[in-house]
Amino acid sequence: RGPRGNFVPPIRNNNGNTSTMAGSRMPGKGDDGLDDSTRKCMELLCGPDGEIPEKLKNIEPRLIEHISNEIMEKDPNVRWSDIAGLEHAKKCVMEMVIYPLIRPDIFRGCRSPGKGLLLFGPPGTGKTMIGKAIAGEAKATFFYISASSLTSKWIGEGEKLVRALFGVASCRQPAVIFVDEIDSLLSQRKSEGEHESSRRLKTQFLIEMEGFDSANDQVLLIGATNRPQELDEAARRRLARRLYIPLPSSEARASIVRTLLEKDGLLKLSPDEIATVCRLTEGYSGSDMKNLVKDASMGPLREALIQGTEITKLKKEDLRLVNLKDFEDSLQEIRPSVGSNELVTYEEWNKQYGSSK
Ligand code: ADP
Repeated sequence: RGPRGNFVPPIRNNNGNTSTMAGSRMPGKGDDGLDDSTRKCMELLCGPDGEIPEKLKNIEPRLIEHISNEIMEKDPNVRWSDIAGLEHAKKCVMEMVIYPLIRPDIFRGCRSPGKGLLLFGPPGTGKTMIGKAIAGEAKATFFYISASSLTSKWIGEGEKLVRALFGVASCRQPAVIFVDEIDSLLSQRKSEGEHESSRRLKTQFLIEMEGFDSANDQVLLIGATNRPQELDEAARRRLARRLYIPLPSSEARASIVRTLLEKDGLLKLSPDEIATVCRLTEGYSGSDMKNLVKDASMGPLREALIQGTEITKLKKEDLRLVNLKDFEDSLQEIRPSVGSNELVTYEEWNKQYGSSK
């Protein structure tokens, strides 16, 4: 028995599998079939009376443990100020989700927000960062799951994991559930070969989302996708607010370069040189910019090695700072990852279904 006297552990059934906790009550430590880490997770989710919350009954403790340890992030550690540009998206997010999470008493009735937000746009533009920043700003627990892992890694168990995810989130309110690549879960493709299991998974997911529409739950679901056009009508309806997260503007690209170099004490570029880098990186995503800065910051090291300095004898303080030439060289290697024709698709979808044009 753990510190909470009424904790209801699972029992082992005859075939050796651990059963769920519903209705079972086993005395004694070590007799409950749980190892210490699982028991600890369960105890943290129990109410003050030590009872398992209703939503977690009938859910296997190992899945609850997986959610608590792998999917829940205790401190997402992304602040609003870490996200370059996207001023419009940030403003919308404040009003649509952060204020309601902070002041649920005001956002009721006509003002009540939907429980689903879709962030769509090219890869590497800061969608995940926004999800984490929302959790940070609203002091909410953050759950991150990639939908493709549900369909690949958790074959046949995805449904159970989804139930565990929403169950744990409801015990950890306010909570933000971030589902990356949500299109792979809620895609409209109804191919002949669509597996029964993925259909069931999708249904379960929609049921769980529906279940959270009550006014009292402080749980926000954020779906992120690079392929919004794959979502079907049911998914769009549930993700009522849909925000386009575009490629970074020139100022945002400058800010990414400056912030990353400054953080490592490598910034020597003049404002004019930064402007040149921005001019040469039209069409680069935030993550392309990060890769570019990483590559450019290797320039001084590469140069020292070419000049014959041995890596073992190299003094960090002798390395020069990163200059414009390093960026020009790296631009040959690091190319933009998003094609301009893809942008047209996002813009059209935004016109048709986006929440703010
Ligand atoms: P997405 O979820 O849209 O695919 P991420 O949020 O995972 O993209 O971004 C990947 C990385 O790219 C981030 O960790 C960050 O380093 C960088 N990045 C992307 N967009 C931005 C941005 N707007 N501001 C600062 N860094 C960004």
